[in-house]
Amino acid sequence: MLNSIAVMTSGGDSPGMNAAARAVVRTALYEGVTVWGIHDGYHGLLDGDIYKMESKDVGDIIQRGGTFLGTARSKRWRTPEGRKLGYKNLVDRGIEGLCVIGGDGSLRGASLLSQETGIPIVGLPGTIDNDVWGSDYTIGCDTAANTIIDAINKLRDTASAHRRVIVLETMGRNSGWLALVAGISGGAEYILVPEEEYDLHAICEDMQEAYKKGKRYILVVVAEGAGNGQEIADYIAKETGLDTRASVLGHIQRGGSPTVIDRVRASQLGEQAALALISGLSNIVFGFKEGHVVSIDLHDSVNNKKQLDPDYIHIAKVLF
Ligand code: ATP
Repeated sequence: MLNSIAVMTSGGDSPGMNAAARAVVRTALYEGVTVWGIHDGYHGLLDGDIYKMESKDVGDIIQRGGTFLGTARSKRWRTPEGRKLGYKNLVDRGIEGLCVIGGDGSLRGASLLSQETGIPIVGLPGTIDNDVWGSDYTIGCDTAANTIIDAINKLRDTASAHRRVIVLETMGRNSGWLALVAGISGGAEYILVPEEEYDLHAICEDMQEAYKKGKRYILVVVAEGAGNGQEIADYIAKETGLDTRASVLGHIQRGGSPTVIDRVRASQLGEQAALALISGLSNIVFGFKEGHVVSIDLHDSVNNKKQLDPDYIHIAKVLF
């Protein structure tokens, strides 16, 4: 049984991180355990930017995007010396376990800390990319997908008015999940993801045929890891002569008030993480499988690459 735990957010922020951290803090307090918040991820852990939290510290945040704890990317954390200092900053305050909310990089950093020092670690998948192995879901992916859908709906209106081809670039350097789900639910004609090869020349020929048959507009959704939206639009315009425009959503996808799904799931995950840490469990990540909370081995999670759901890839091809 642990008596003192800490929580931090790390890597790219994602909507729902606040709900998760709030649940960790309030569950710990409910269980009579001291809980600390760490500002700015591993950066703050190294600088000792760590403070004791009360219930009111997590009031009025569940509806907000971003993370009230702040987040950062830390080069020092990548070194064993850095992690040793981070460990010391925890031990000096009597902190016995750490909950890290972040993407695969943050979880990898947490796994190393646990291996090197033995301190109990529980991870939560917090990233809009939905690319953490072992979980169907990551905190923030639902809000980000809905933000993209909102953009697609607007782009469709103007594309239709002008008979244009629109190329929409979404986030996702290594994972096409966001582009794929947003493309399916936004009715995109073509979805380009880093996990799947594509032939842009063949796509251009297809588009010309479609326009000849009376198609008014075409929507292409491309994950940033599958190509540059502007370059793809330029190529299509040159190859087909069709009026083609690129739209790059960028950081808008990260922000915004979390959806119901992100708030509820993040709250469930935060509660489970706190209970597990307090009971002395370590080296696990909590995620969702088929709608239920599951625990995943932290080492397995960071050492495997999540694949896109083949059913999604299939349906994207059938329904276009
Ligand atoms: P997102 O998916 O939103 O980008 P992330 O958690 O994957 O989030 P990263 O920038 O990869 O974001 O990682 C966040 C921080 O975790 C890094 O700045 C670094 O401090 C730590 N980290 C990442 N990879 C490692 C690693 N291999 N070893 C040690 N620490 C790491």
